[in-house]
Amino acid sequence: MFTFTEEQLMIRDTVREFAEKEVLPRAAALDETGGFPHESMQSLTEMGITGLNVPEEYGGAGLDDEVLKALCVEELAKVCASTACVLDVQFLASDIILRKGTEAQKKKYLSLAAQGKIGGFALTEPGAGSDAGSARTTAVKDGDCYVLNGTKCFISNLGPDAGYHYVVIALTDPSKGTKGMTAFIVDRDMPGVSVGKCERKMGLRGSAVAELVLENVRVPEENLLGQLGEGFKIAMMGLDGGRIGIAAQSVGVAEGALAEAVKYANSRVQFGKPIAVNQGLQWYFAEMGTRIEAARLLTLRAADARQKGEPCTKLAAMAKLYASETACFVCDLALQVHGGYGYMKDFAIERMYRDARILRIYEGTSEVQKMVISREVLSGR
Ligand SMILES: Cc1cc2nc3c(=O)[nH]c(=O)nc-3n(C[C@H](O)[C@H](O)[C@H](O)COP(=O)(O)OP(=O)(O)OC[C@H]3O[C@@H](n4cnc5c(N)ncnc54)[C@H](O)[C@@H]3O)c2cc1C
Repeated sequence: MFTFTEEQLMIRDTVREFAEKEVLPRAAALDETGGFPHESMQSLTEMGITGLNVPEEYGGAGLDDEVLKALCVEELAKVCASTACVLDVQFLASDIILRKGTEAQKKKYLSLAAQGKIGGFALTEPGAGSDAGSARTTAVKDGDCYVLNGTKCFISNLGPDAGYHYVVIALTDPSKGTKGMTAFIVDRDMPGVSVGKCERKMGLRGSAVAELVLENVRVPEENLLGQLGEGFKIAMMGLDGGRIGIAAQSVGVAEGALAEAVKYANSRVQFGKPIAVNQGLQWYFAEMGTRIEAARLLTLRAADARQKGEPCTKLAAMAKLYASETACFVCDLALQVHGGYGYMKDFAIERMYRDARILRIYEGTSEVQKMVISREVLSGR
């Protein structure tokens, strides 16, 4: 059903080779130390992947291709979900600036993104998770600046030594609710910006996540992104793309877990035979393989729709829902196939199982995706 261009295949294969040769050998240590994949991101920058969606005039690869972004994230996620997440969030931040930024914003921030400066997206607050519209961070006009105050939590690509700029959603007119929200680009080194609590996570330990604390941060007016009052809409538009990215990450994690299970089932001997000959386990493999294929097609369908400029909110939510549930389903069965060894850190499936769990939560939980999908379906879209 899906045919890729030669260029897409060539870049996918390059990323696949890089992932196997350079990202995989670092994955266990990254998980163990909870560091940040600086070396891999540096190499991905040199390969032109970090700035894949950045136009050539700003030093990027000029390939703003939703399908290709998904393929790159998928390849990395097969071996290391953390590295895939870092790239995916980088794509999300650049995508929003690309679509809504002024010429000056694009020139500055997309050039930096292409040079490997890592960006992020800051919507969530302690009191505003699924209900992102209840965010309380404020932005008050003062001369030629907006003064931002508030705390964003669980912000990816933010850590003691990670992250450069963030798309931040803040209230410019609290009386208007979500219509009073505006997007800003905030540099990490602006006075008043600090990194709060750095989270210690169950999985995805190689992707930095922290609080972004904003205390009287004077953000120049030229860093206002899009129109005043358009911030919530911009966030939702960005999340359409972001959810396709998480779906691609999920497909990659599931494919990686399946590969580990196949290897193990063919080599582990019990009752005098490889365990793969047991029909009870073969049915697991049939289910895992089928669900992965369906998740992959749904993800590519959503990416293709977004690339064509078609409405993709429903498809992106469906892809994110189905692929993330599939990743957890597959990791669980793949661990089961490993028996007790799957519970041990000597086997990659232990890390994959932990990494997969976040996929059903961030960029909207599975329950929130169902809210989005049902709203679209019930209104006939
Ligand atoms: C590792 C990690 C990275 C993240 N990265 C980012 C980032 O880069 N930027 C950012 O802005 N945010 C980020 N987030 C935040 C993430 O998107 C939120 O955690 C997520 O949207 C859920 O919000 P919450 O944690 O507050 O859960 P809550 O909203 O409190 O939800 C708790 C539970 O209630 C359910 N629930 C809530 N409302 C309803 C409802 N109406 N109907 C049915 N069920 C409901 C939820 O589905 C969930 O199961 C990240 C989170 C994590 C853990």
